[in-house]
Amino acid sequence: MADDESRTSGLSTRAVHAGEPAPIDGAPVAMPIYQTSTFVSGAGAGAEVLYTRYGTNPNHEAVAAKLAALEGAEAALVLGSGMAAIAHALLAVVGSGDHIVAQRDLYGGTYTLLTKELPRLGIETSFVDPDGDWAAAIRPSTRLLFIEVPINPTMRIVDVERIVELAGAQGLPVFADTTFATPVNFRPLEHGVTLSIHSATKYLGGHSDLTAGAVAGPAQLVEQVRTRMKSFGGVLDPQAAWLLERGMKTLPVRMARHNETALALAGWLESHPAISRVFHPGLRSHPDHARAKSLLDGFGGVIGMVVRGGDDAALRVMSRFRLIHVAPSLGGVESLASMPRFTSHVGFSIEARRTMLVEDGFLRISVGLEDLQDLEAELDAALAPELTQPLPAGSG
Ligand SMILES: *Cc1c(COP(=O)(O)O)cnc(C)c1O
Repeated sequence: MADDESRTSGLSTRAVHAGEPAPIDGAPVAMPIYQTSTFVSGAGAGAEVLYTRYGTNPNHEAVAAKLAALEGAEAALVLGSGMAAIAHALLAVVGSGDHIVAQRDLYGGTYTLLTKELPRLGIETSFVDPDGDWAAAIRPSTRLLFIEVPINPTMRIVDVERIVELAGAQGLPVFADTTFATPVNFRPLEHGVTLSIHSATKYLGGHSDLTAGAVAGPAQLVEQVRTRMKSFGGVLDPQAAWLLERGMKTLPVRMARHNETALALAGWLESHPAISRVFHPGLRSHPDHARAKSLLDGFGGVIGMVVRGGDDAALRVMSRFRLIHVAPSLGGVESLASMPRFTSHVGFSIEARRTMLVEDGFLRISVGLEDLQDLEAELDAALAPELTQPLPAGSG
């Protein structure tokens, strides 16, 4: 698909065709896997050196072109994992003595990177409540603002436009981890965000069978991320790049179904007597519903819910699942359930979790592509025995 076409056609057409081999006679319809570490470059100087660690394997370039087309970005780069994407992206702009302002409620791996690893390199981070005072946290040494849209596992949506405006006034870039949204539901560059970052392990790959990360944004910045990747080595294997490309072709249809089933299931759960609270941005009861409606094209496939009776009750409910697998991660064709307190939020105290609205009994479901009626039946069967359980004192 030619570059100009990949900017004007619809998102589904881009997902299928952008970055794919040109349809000339004899060309393969599906991209072959270039399972090679290096490429013949000729004896002379001057030619571009193709080497898999540089991210210049054709499988890397095809999938990067597809993501750039979906994000409306000048350039994109795929890396070995979501954490590789986040770490290399941060190190593209910060060094010793620099400061980052980040949203407080972050993916656990990112939080650990910012609080444990980057300080060893002399890089400090200040954390801001999603509704907090971002301006007050900015220092002369601040180099970037970091957000997640939506926020795991409450699906809260930060005020992206206000944060972008504030950063712009100070000449600072904003990086957004949009793993939970994907470019189908939210394209941050359209709202002034500088760099979009993904754990492609999740929805972009979509089948829980690969680990990958990606960044999309201005070509110059993406090249800076590539420079870090060349030195720190967080490259993606060609086979995984090919799988990712295959998965991304169906991203818009998958997301449409994830969005639809999750919204219906969230509404159903909200009226279930064994559940005290449901977090899904498509629900009117969600604290950021209005903002989600104006920023997002879809509300996503993840639901947070609080089981009455607390963590013990949530554990009992999970133990009754047959169809839904109990596993961390999200974004695959199969529904997955996990309790943030044991996964993403394991490092936080109960008080800290409560401030983030991750109360006792919080259960997260990544809604897969199964039929809605089967998921409802599964949840109903797992929740029903809780209705006859005596409630522990103080819960409500
Ligand atoms: C999973 C995840 C990551 C880390 O991605 P990996 O591919 O596991 O390295 C980063 N951010 C978010 C929001 C995630 O869900």
